[in-house]
Amino acid sequence: MRTLSDIDFKGKKAIIRVDFNVPLDDNFNITDTTRIEAAKPTIDKILKDGGSVILMSHLGRPKGKEEKYSLKHIVKKTSEILGVDVEFVNDSIGSDVEKAAKELKPGEVLLLENLRFYKEEEAGDEDFAKKLAALGDVYVNDAFGTAHRAHASTTIIAKFFPENKVFGTLLAKEIDSINKVLGNSEKPVTAILGGSKVSSKITVIENILDKVDHLIIGGGMTFTFIKAMGGKIGDSICEDDKQALALEILDKAKANNVQVHLPVDVVAADGFKNDANTKVVDVKQIPNGWQGLDAGPESLENFKKVILASKTILWNGPLGVFEMENFAKGTIALGGYIAEATQNGAFSLVGGGDSVAAVKQFGLEPKMSYVSTGGGAMLEMLEGKTLPGIAAIQE
Ligand code: AMP
Repeated sequence: MRTLSDIDFKGKKAIIRVDFNVPLDDNFNITDTTRIEAAKPTIDKILKDGGSVILMSHLGRPKGKEEKYSLKHIVKKTSEILGVDVEFVNDSIGSDVEKAAKELKPGEVLLLENLRFYKEEEAGDEDFAKKLAALGDVYVNDAFGTAHRAHASTTIIAKFFPENKVFGTLLAKEIDSINKVLGNSEKPVTAILGGSKVSSKITVIENILDKVDHLIIGGGMTFTFIKAMGGKIGDSICEDDKQALALEILDKAKANNVQVHLPVDVVAADGFKNDANTKVVDVKQIPNGWQGLDAGPESLENFKKVILASKTILWNGPLGVFEMENFAKGTIALGGYIAEATQNGAFSLVGGGDSVAAVKQFGLEPKMSYVSTGGGAMLEMLEGKTLPGIAAIQE
């Protein structure tokens, strides 16, 4: 893996693809600065080496040049976080940008305007990538969140730096963590997959079946499995057309010696709302008019035993409708078991969208070994795909 330590940045200009796609409120204040903080180690290292930095990112999904998506809104906060006065140029290519990049001195940071103001970015336009490439001496990709996209700044640009292209600290850490889980990880390895649908996780499940010892299935996708196995699921969420697939997965798991753990009891509700009436019922005996919205206490006990005995843990997807307080208990408890296992020396990786939101919401983030910054990118890696942004650096 080519990383920052393979390059002497002294006197060099590094053009870094970062993921500064941060959430802004109506007054253009950043409501979550995690992504900027996550890029800081890479930027710090290059500046400390005596290099200068050109930052490029997208923000939102603008249709052409829309001021509300301008990266000018984040300049002040980024300067504060980096401890450097960030210079902003209101374009990503063109003569003003070239001039600003040329005049950049060691220790200085330049931020380009939102790359997606140009349709060429997402189109992966080679000429656009070439113009970006001309601004720097070294290309650094530190944007895991867009590593699964073959865009100009995430992938195509790399070809203009045959020797001088590396992963930033954040991206290297993401790749490392996932390799730790899917590669030669310490056994037993347990994957916990929750969330709403089997269909969105099917490729992940198929790819990890020969890599894990235990598979815990929770959340809404539980019920497709339970119904397929002949259980009564009441009004619980279910993908009827995926029942055969669910049985196939169980067979494959058996053939691979993977122990599958499904909930045995659930917190059922008489409506999809926080103040619905609830009762704990057998997962295979959910009455009509009731739906399973969280894992029950016996299920959680079972999951706890498996997790505390694991040495490597992957968690993707909540165990229940954690957005509603009354159905968040299973997800919170699960996070607690993973935290405990981690404290006892296990490696834990949380990734792929909603589970990341859950660990953040419940203050569990610092207790996990690694929490991924990229939802879609993480899922694609778990599916066993080669991400174009990663391949472009390795080629
Ligand atoms: P995903 O994006 O597939 O990871 O799914 C996450 C969503 O699944 C969250 O919004 C949860 O509220 C939802 N979810 C989890 N458990 C259930 C359930 N038992 N019934 C309905 N939705 C659920």
